[in-house]
Amino acid sequence: MSPSIPELIVNITELRRHVGERRSVDCRVDLGEIGLDATSVHVEGPVTVAIDLESVSGGIASAGRLAAAWSGACRRCLDPVSGEIEVTVDEVFEPAPDEGVTYPILEDRIDLEPVVRENVLLGLPIAPLCRADCPGPDPEHFPVQLPADEADAAPVDPRWAALDALVADIE
Ligand SMILES: [Zn+2]
Repeated sequence: MSPSIPELIVNITELRRHVGERRSVDCRVDLGEIGLDATSVHVEGPVTVAIDLESVSGGIASAGRLAAAWSGACRRCLDPVSGEIEVTVDEVFEPAPDEGVTYPILEDRIDLEPVVRENVLLGLPIAPLCRADCPGPDPEHFPVQLPADEADAAPVDPRWAALDALVADIE
């Protein structure tokens, strides 16, 4: 677990006094290294948080927006590609949360970090393109990759064939 982010920890004692009480959280926070490992898409710089909290019966509703810049690699040509996302947040905090559905109220406070983190991750592009009609790898730089079974059947480089013969001799 990363250390908690103070701006995202909100004391809700006042909020919970009356249903309908509101409070807004506006800040820019650094989530550290965060991204999609599989595609190398990751968040660049701070995330802008603008969330309204409202006391509802049984918990706290959080609704608002997150904005962040991201960068990664084009899924066709692997050139660097970057952009910005804006994500809508709509989550509920409860004293006894439903795992995977609502978030916990921790005594007199809530931690918005998991909400920010999970929603930003969900908003990142899974398969970014440098441009909509990216033609894919430049054949000069990236020879076309054959599917695995065709690659196996491809003719063996004569230098490797010679090496194979040599290994056979030694054995
Ligand atoms: Zn591309």
